[in-house]
Amino acid sequence: MAKQETKPAPKKETKPALKIVPLGGLHEIGKNTCVFEYDDEILLLDAGLAFPTDGMHGVNIVLPDATYLRENRHKIKGMIVTHGHEDHIGGIAFHLKQFDIPVIYGPRLAMAMLEGKLEEAGVRELTKINTVMPRDIVRIGKSFVIEYMRNTHSMADSFSVAIFSPLGVVIHTGDFKFDHTPVDGEHFDLQRLAEHGEKGVLCLMSDSTNSEVPGFTPSERSVYPNLERVFRQAEGRLFVTTFASSVHRINMILQLAQKYNRTVSVVGRSMLNLIAHARNLGYVKCDDNLLKPLHMVRNLPDEDVLILTTGSQGEHMAALSRIARKEHPHIKIREGDTVVFSANPIPGNTIAVVNTIDKLMMQGAK
Ligand SMILES: [Zn+2]
Repeated sequence: MAKQETKPAPKKETKPALKIVPLGGLHEIGKNTCVFEYDDEILLLDAGLAFPTDGMHGVNIVLPDATYLRENRHKIKGMIVTHGHEDHIGGIAFHLKQFDIPVIYGPRLAMAMLEGKLEEAGVRELTKINTVMPRDIVRIGKSFVIEYMRNTHSMADSFSVAIFSPLGVVIHTGDFKFDHTPVDGEHFDLQRLAEHGEKGVLCLMSDSTNSEVPGFTPSERSVYPNLERVFRQAEGRLFVTTFASSVHRINMILQLAQKYNRTVSVVGRSMLNLIAHARNLGYVKCDDNLLKPLHMVRNLPDEDVLILTTGSQGEHMAALSRIARKEHPHIKIREGDTVVFSANPIPGNTIAVVNTIDKLMMQGAK
């Protein structure tokens, strides 16, 4: 019997799969961290932290489980950052102590804040930081090319990205809201987003707080008239608290202070830091003499003073919380003060915020 020749089956040219592994940030607020893996290369997108919820006693910050990254550290080629919120950059300093991230690309404002964080943590030398501008294209490893597209968000200098992988384009929107009248005049690059859509996209990753709620979020600009009403009506000292990172909101508050002749003292380190960076980059505009340290505004008449402070979420150690507990060394609330919370409580913070408001009111604040 003739022996049948057995040919080896022709090898199929199969490309590796593109793996997308979110380590945090989905169905939760905080610790946004996403892993893109192709072949033997890993690209990281953002690395944030979360703040502890009420039940986490003794916990200062919450980080995602990075075991996968530690185990695959040799694959990590670099990181792209979409914007400078803590829940997107707050984890980076901690990760750098555990594995290498050779290079990090991100917007100027986010990278300015990140540099400070890395320096403080003593890990500034462990990575290279590069800044990007709208429509910049960067390459990470052999497998990933990333295009930065301007978006609109509560934080200035924020981006969506198109990630070109060997299998196709992934659009990651980053955090965003469609704001057609942005305070800083930097519009969402919808045109570029649409171009990608027309050409065909492998995968869209889109997640934004309150995206399940039907309807539109009003433009950030719509806050202005309400804030202005408070400025018009407040007779004594005015306290305003908002997220330290809400650059647009802070910009509006400073503009109103200028218009209503109130000298501003900023209380809270995170807010001072952000305002300094944002002013350098032109995202916050105000006269130099508008901002004064606390000891200089103390002698001004009450109606000429604005205290801009952290603590809008009732955070225990934030300035406004300490003022409310009468623990702040330099500021005491008195009858006639007006305190404005210009931020909604993040789910989980409501009780802390309400407690702070109660304490402020008991001391005579409006
Ligand atoms: Zn954000």
